[in-house]
Amino acid sequence: MSPRRIGVLGGTFDPVHIGHLRSALEVAQSLGLDEVRLTPNARPPHRDMPQVSAVNRLAMVESAVKDVRLLKVDARELQRDKPSYTIETLESMRAELAIDDQLILLLGWDAFCGLPSWHRWEELLQHCHILVLQRPDADSEPPFALRNLLAARSVSDPLALKGPSGQITFVWQTPLAVSATQIRQLLASGKSVRFLVPDAVLAYIEANGLYRSPI
Ligand code: ATP
Repeated sequence: MSPRRIGVLGGTFDPVHIGHLRSALEVAQSLGLDEVRLTPNARPPHRDMPQVSAVNRLAMVESAVKDVRLLKVDARELQRDKPSYTIETLESMRAELAIDDQLILLLGWDAFCGLPSWHRWEELLQHCHILVLQRPDADSEPPFALRNLLAARSVSDPLALKGPSGQITFVWQTPLAVSATQIRQLLASGKSVRFLVPDAVLAYIEANGLYRSPI
């Protein structure tokens, strides 16, 4: 069997929206991945608590990808009662894969630049490749702490990633102008978020009265 190629996109998904989904699907198709796993964070180490429960965020992500062959949900971070450190998630995924399967961590440019503050960040590339989602208009000067790593590990062609882990590559993508913050604000002020989230997510939000209170 040829090695599997698996993308991982973490986030609070509070709620999941078309920006996340398009981005994941475009990466999956352009790199020919077997799947991209959307991995909701429990208690993100770098930000505030999500507004709705893990159960609700997970249910929304599951309903969003239900009929999408290339997108999957990985709930393991919600099953731990401690901060969601990416290194531990990758170690745990790696333990379930064949030795030559590829794991590819999808990170926005801003998240990538913040990597040196992550728990055990220098070990990440032992478990995965990193695919940086670069906006065409982004300032592309990386922080000093990442220069040596980039010089040693970058490959310019994302289709040329080799082996199970260890390389960094870039994909240029114009993100859809939508954020979960914007969606929460619209809902809190009684406005519709139709077309910003899949219909199944909209139905879940409405059925459960989520995000209605002012934030
Ligand atoms: P918030 O507004 O609450 O900060 P968000 O919309 O940025 O949320 P997250 O759950 O924090 O969503 O994002 C998870 C991942 O998805 C991050 O890597 C983030 O960069 C990426 N992402 C967020 N919005 C978009 C978008 N519109 N297009 C592509 N990727 C996105």
